[in-house]
Amino acid sequence: MAERIASQLGEKVLVVERRNHIGGNCYDERDDNGILVHRYGPHILHTDSEEVFEYLSAFTGWREYQHRVLGSIDGTRVPLPFNLDSLRMLFPPSLAERLEEKMIEEYGFGSRVPIMELMGCGDPDIEFLADYVYRKVFLNYTMKQWGLEPGDIDPGVTARVPIVLSRDDRYFNDRYQALPVDGYTAMIGRMLDHPCIKLMLNTSHDEVLELRDGRIHFMGSEFRGKLIFTGKIDELFGYRYGELPYRSLDLRFESLDMEWFQEAATVNYPNDYDFTRITEFKHLHPADSRRTTLLREYPCRHVEGENEPFYPVFTDETRAKYEGYLELAREFEDLILVGRLAEYRYYDMDDIVLRALRVFEEMID
Ligand code: UDP
Repeated sequence: MAERIASQLGEKVLVVERRNHIGGNCYDERDDNGILVHRYGPHILHTDSEEVFEYLSAFTGWREYQHRVLGSIDGTRVPLPFNLDSLRMLFPPSLAERLEEKMIEEYGFGSRVPIMELMGCGDPDIEFLADYVYRKVFLNYTMKQWGLEPGDIDPGVTARVPIVLSRDDRYFNDRYQALPVDGYTAMIGRMLDHPCIKLMLNTSHDEVLELRDGRIHFMGSEFRGKLIFTGKIDELFGYRYGELPYRSLDLRFESLDMEWFQEAATVNYPNDYDFTRITEFKHLHPADSRRTTLLREYPCRHVEGENEPFYPVFTDETRAKYEGYLELAREFEDLILVGRLAEYRYYDMDDIVLRALRVFEEMID
C-alpha cells in the first residue's frame, strides 16, 4: 500500500512498525551459517495471478523454485499433497492399483480433491482410502496445528492440501512459483525505498494513534489522511468484544554441523512429535555452507505479548465477533483495513498482494 501511494500518487506515507525490522512475517535474514532463513516460518511465493507476479517483479529478480514436501507416515516418507505415488508407496501393489483406477474413474486423472469431500463420497473403496489419508495425514496434524479436528475447522483450510490424482509431487500447482533471489526483506526494502516513504520502527500503533468519536488522532493532533491498519483489529479497538483467537507457533531453529539433514525442503510429521514439520532452509536458498539450518514448528495458542498471532481461527462465533469489530471500524471513514490480522483472514502472500492492489484502486476512485 505504501509503495503504491508513494509511487503512483506522490503522496507521503509514514510506515509505523512495531517490530525492529520491515517485511512483517515474510522477514528473512542470513543466519550465522550464512543461510537465508525465514524468521517467521517458511514463506513460498506461489500464484496463478500474472498481475501479482508482474507487480512484485518490479522489486526483485527470482529464483525459480518448486516447493516439495514429504510426509512421514509410519516411517515412510511420501509426497504431500498425497498423490498416486504416495498411494503406491503405502499400499500393497494390487490394492494401490485398484484404488488408483477407482479414484481416476470417479474424479478424473489430475484432479485435486479435498479430503473432506472424499470422506462422505459413498463408494466403500474410496471411503476406505479417504479414511486412511484422513487418519494418517490430516487428523493429528490438524489437532496439533489448530487444537481441533478437521471437521471442526473451516473446510477451506484442509482443502489447501488436497488429494492429487496424478504423479505431480509439487506442494503447489500454481503457474508462478519462485523465491525472491536475495530474499523477501530485500524485495520489501526496495518497495519502501522511495523519497515519499518514511519508516518508524519499534513503534506500536497505540503509541502514536488514537481513534475516538469517529476521528483519527496521530501524535495528539487530528489526522486527515488515510490510515491503513494492518495489525489486529481486536487490539485496535481495545478488545471491546473480546479477543479474536489465533494459533501461534513456537519456531525453534537449529544449526547442525552437517551438509544436509533431509531430502526435501519440508518434511511433515502428522503423527509423531509435538512439532508439525521441519524445514531445511538450504533447499530454499542454496548456500555455500558446510552447515545447515532447520526450523521445527510447534503450534500453540496465541497469547498477546507472548507470541505472534499467525493463523486466525475462524468459526461462526469468531466471524460474528469480527463483524462486530468491522462495525466499529465503519465509524472511521478514513480507516482502511488490510491484511491477515486486520481482516482476520488466512491470506497467502499472493492473496494479500492482490488485495492491496485492489484496495489501492478503490482508494483512488
Ligand atoms: N494439513 C494436514 N496435514 C499435512 C499438511 C496440512 O492436516 O500434512 C492441514 C492442516 O490442517 C493445515 C492445513 O492442512 O493447517 C493447511 O496446510 P498448509 O501447509 O497450507 O499450512 P501453512 O503452510 O499455511 O501453515
